Amino acid sequence: MIIGIPKEIKNNENRVALPPSGVFDLTNRGHQVLVEKDAGKGSTISDEEYVAAGATIIDNAADVWAAEMVMKVKEPLPEEYRYFRKGLLLFTYLHLAANRPLTEALVNSGVTAIAYENVQPADNTLPLLAPMSEIAGRMAAQIGANFLERIKGGKGILLSGVPGVRRGNVVVIGGGVVGLNAAKLAVGLGANVTLLDVSVPRLKELDIIFGNSVQTMMSNSFNIQECLKTADLVIGAVLIPGHKAPTLVTKEMVANMPDHGVIVDVAIDQGGIFETEDRVTTHDDPTYVKEGVVHYAVANMPGAVPQTATYALSNSTMAYANLLANTPLELLLKDNLALRRGVNTYNGKLTIEPVAKDLA
Ligand code: NAD
Repeated sequence: MIIGIPKEIKNNENRVALPPSGVFDLTNRGHQVLVEKDAGKGSTISDEEYVAAGATIIDNAADVWAAEMVMKVKEPLPEEYRYFRKGLLLFTYLHLAANRPLTEALVNSGVTAIAYENVQPADNTLPLLAPMSEIAGRMAAQIGANFLERIKGGKGILLSGVPGVRRGNVVVIGGGVVGLNAAKLAVGLGANVTLLDVSVPRLKELDIIFGNSVQTMMSNSFNIQECLKTADLVIGAVLIPGHKAPTLVTKEMVANMPDHGVIVDVAIDQGGIFETEDRVTTHDDPTYVKEGVVHYAVANMPGAVPQTATYALSNSTMAYANLLANTPLELLLKDNLALRRGVNTYNGKLTIEPVAKDLA
């Protein structure tokens, strides 16, 4: 198979879909890998390293997109829709429930697209979302701590406090992979951490993991409202797989937060959980203020730490990339539940029910 690895074009997206080790693996199995010139630059991987691993360097995006399978990191942007065509297999993050134009472009062009975030084996884990969620969760706590500094627009509080002065209050809504990792870092920074989830079994697991260092709480409107009244930093970490994120925090709840508090909504890639969010932000201009509270809403947070994220992503995607490259697609999808669940569009048809419902 011919596999294309385009250079990512989203704002400050420094990840690349495959490092040289992935190229080496695929070319050793007889596949041809086309890597766009400078695709690895953001992750400090040179074209020469790709060539040494067996890749062919191509100096324009169109020829890379002409491959049979294109592997990317982030969802294609409108300037990439022109490369869509029937017969193309696209393997990348998509987040279609929050993106009608991309959904329509994929359906109308007849692309078969498998979304990393929906690949789900029988144990219902999300193995291709998890590595980026681990990273974004950990980043959420450190980014929040940073924007809490007065010079960054925050209220000017050190999360750990100091002897004789209170710690900062961190509220994490959603206790899955992002939430666990955000809480872990926030605890490490010395904050007072409350973790909310709707799943009682998950709350039990979190209680066993964190012991007394975190307060777990059932996620409902009343508890969210109460927690936010004294929150210095609120982290959004909810996911209902495939669906647009639910709006769990109203404008009034945000208005009742202390002034100059900080929100980091990691769930913004699925539309976000705060009513006050009116846009996705970028690494260049990551925050805006609403109701006196700093909002951080970057949808590609791991793009800022490519030396970690490129490798963490491909550690998980490579096994599936090999399956896709080595097996006829129809046979593979019949046999492999995880990849079948990941199919968002198939030959011009929208095949993922939650997206169809949310965009209806
Ligand atoms: P996950 O499935 O591991 O966890 C989601 C959790 O949300 C689950 O524990 C679930 O029980 C909980 N939940 C569902 N409804 C809830 C509610 N009403 N209140 C509280 N909790 C609720 O998902 P994840 O991997 O942690 O991902 C979370 C979000 O972060 C996703 O939207 C994911 O795409 C996103 N993400 C964003 C970035 C970024 O750069 N912004 C990076 C990675 C992941």
